[in-house]
This record gives sequence, C-alpha cells and structure tokens, in this order.
Amino acid sequence: MTMTTIWHSHRIASVGVHPPGATSPRRPHEALIGPEGSLRATVPWAGGVAMAGRFFRNEMPGFVVEAESEETVAGDSLHRLLSLPYPKAADRFLRAGLDLKEKVVKETWFNHGGRVRDFTVYTGAVGTAYLLLKAYQVTNNKNDLNLCSEVVRACDIVSQGSRRDVTFICGRAGVCAIGALAAKYAGDVTLLNHYLSSFREIHLPPQVPNELLYGRAGYLWTCFFLNKHIGDGTVPSQHVTAIAREIIVQGKKLAGRGSCPLMYEWYGERYWGAAHGLAGIMHTLMDADLKSEEQELVKGTLRYMIQNRFQSGNYPSAEGTEPDRLVHWCHGAPGIALTLTKASQVYRDQQFLHAAADAAELVWNRGLLKRVGICHGVSGNAYVFLTLYRLTGMVENLYRAKAFACFLLDKGGKLISEGEMHSGDRPYSLFEGQGGMAYLFLDMVRPSESRFPGYEL
Ligand SMILES: [Zn+2]
Repeated sequence: MTMTTIWHSHRIASVGVHPPGATSPRRPHEALIGPEGSLRATVPWAGGVAMAGRFFRNEMPGFVVEAESEETVAGDSLHRLLSLPYPKAADRFLRAGLDLKEKVVKETWFNHGGRVRDFTVYTGAVGTAYLLLKAYQVTNNKNDLNLCSEVVRACDIVSQGSRRDVTFICGRAGVCAIGALAAKYAGDVTLLNHYLSSFREIHLPPQVPNELLYGRAGYLWTCFFLNKHIGDGTVPSQHVTAIAREIIVQGKKLAGRGSCPLMYEWYGERYWGAAHGLAGIMHTLMDADLKSEEQELVKGTLRYMIQNRFQSGNYPSAEGTEPDRLVHWCHGAPGIALTLTKASQVYRDQQFLHAAADAAELVWNRGLLKRVGICHGVSGNAYVFLTLYRLTGMVENLYRAKAFACFLLDKGGKLISEGEMHSGDRPYSLFEGQGGMAYLFLDMVRPSESRFPGYEL
C-alpha cells in the first residue's frame, strides 16, 4: 500500500492512500490544520508571517435597510454596497462573478494550454467547467457552455482508468455528471449517452468509505444529481436505494459502540462535518427513499449532534474532539447548518430549524474566515444564509448572505494581495480558491435559486 503522511483532523496521521495504489493529488485539508488545529507557525501565503486568528471580526451591521435608489446610498464603500437596492447589488455580483470567472478560466485552463493535471471538481479542471456551467445557467452565453464541454472532455480523457472515481467532488463521477448536464444543455444526445454510460461503469469497491468526498455518500449524491438534472430514473431507483441502505447498514455497525444511532469512520476519525463525516452523509441520505425506521436513525443522529454541540453553538470536527475552533463547511457549524436546514424541510421539525439558526448565528460571528473558498472560506459560509433564506424567505438571512458576499466583493482582492486572506493552495480552484468566490457571486444574482456546489441539489 502506498503510504503518505497527511494532515487532517487535529493531529498528524500516517495513512494509506485510498484506494490503495491510487496516485492522488494531495487530499483536501491536509495543509489546513496543524497540531491542535492551529495554523502552521509560518504560512507561505502570508510571506512567512503567521496570521493571528482564523477569522476577521465581523463589524458589519446586523441589518441594513436597502435604499430606494442608488443615488441615496451613503457611507464607506462596503456600507454603500450593503445599502444598494437588491437588483443593483445583483448587477454588481453578476459583473464581478463573470470577470472573476474569466480570470479563473485563464489561470486554470488557458495558461496550462488546456492540459489537465488535476481533473477534480474540488481543486481541478472540472471545477472550472462547473463554474462555466453556472455562468451559462445565469447568462445563457453559449461560449461558456462550449468551453465547459471542452474542459470536461479533457477531464474525461485524463480521468479514464482513475481509481479515485466514485464521487462528484473528488472523483470521475463528477466529470461524468457535469459532462452529461452540459451535453443535455447542448442537445448532444450522443455525448450525453457517453457520459451516462461512463458513469454506469463506475463501481463502488466494497472497502470504499462512506463520506462525501471519497465515499458512498459522494457517489449517492451524484445519482441524485443525475436523476434531478437529466431525468427521473436516469439511475434506477432500486440501485440508488440499495446504496443508501448500505450506508445505513455501515453506520449501524459502528454505532453499536456509542449513543449515536449511526456512526462512520474515515482514516480512524469519526468525523462530524460535511466533507468527511456525519453532516455530509445525513445530508445525502435525506434525499433517499428510506423506510420510516431508517429515517428515525437519520433524525436521531442529527439530534445526537445537536445535543453534543459546543456551548458556543459550534460543532466538533470529530467525535470527542476539542477545542471549539473550526467554522468551515468541511468541519464545524456551516456544513452542519446546511444539513439541519434541510432536515427541518424534509422532516418538518422545528427543532432542526432552531438548531440551524443557532449555527447560522455562530457563522455570522465567527465565519468571516481569512480564507476565500467554498470548502473552508467565506464563500462557503455565505451559503449558510442563502440556504436559510431559501427555506424561510426571511430577508435577514438574505442580508447576511449579501453581507458576506459584499465583504468579498469590496475587500477580497485587496486582502488577498496583501496576504491578509489566503486564496487557497490552488488559488483559482472551485473549492479552495477564487473559483468558489466567482460561483458565489453568480449564485447571488438569483439567490432563491442558489445551491452550494456539489452539495445542494
Ligand atoms: Zn475544507
């Protein structure tokens, strides 16, 4: 087995690459967390100077009433943005999103001569394709769709034979799914069938983990994506339900040793967050056609997490971990808030909505991270408020999403250039870098249609 040393959770772990023998890019989060979860003492992105703290103090007003017209807006540049009538703010987000999309495409595609080293949605070229697809959905510009198809085609070739193939975010399944949707938009039935048959060739090895980025939940999510966007039954319901049931069976095995109804491990840690743990797995299971006793296991797992959260309202990154530090989509309250919001919708249970609102409050106070991306940055945390807004229709939630996006719009470029904000080890990627910021800006144009990429259907 190929061995590599990675950084994840709260300690250094020497683990095997999964699947064994796969030549994988570095795993998500390995550069993120050092011993005791602290940022490493020196950080190259800040010119060798350690950053103090993980987040900027949120000094934005709790709410700003929108002005009736742009002419009556006053204050500093950020406050002026926050005061803009929403249609005017949406124009700014659209312009910024499209400009940044151009930059991302240049940096990740044209400057590499169209060669693909990393094909994944997470940090690679198909993440750029996904951003192009989002731009097409917003503007109907066919150039974006054509370029998206070209990038996916290159990723398709590079990822053939990849053994890291089962998930949307980090595997070949994402290439097949995004390729299929782009082909559907382009009206290319032959290409659509190619991507669907490629997806059908993906097999889940028995030892595959259950989490979202590399495991069964990430495969299951791709099935739901295809059935939603290509058409019901694209992946037969019996197959989809069988995968969901297997995840439940696996979760019950490990749960036998604790009081949480379902539990999973990834590289020896019982993670709670969206990327590798309970939040991401429960989020995906909620779309499955489960029996009522299976649904009770999902609900019980979420209740266990609520009962055992930190006093601050944040959530441990893994079972039994301290201290209360990470406020990311991947680890901590933001990813769990998305899951709880969905649970309140699916199960019509106010307990979940209240807990989601508590988590969102924490994200407002501690979620203005010194990182830009979707996975562990401000862009991803903004989706907590977008998701609550979609469910509740409350303008306060839309304001908070707008505030995080306006913070990036107003200050992001300057903070990145001054080294105050980290733009990711892969600075233009979708999940770690400015690709995610572009995706958020485009989602802010029509917030009621926003979806956290690769996570919300
Ligand atoms: Zn992350």
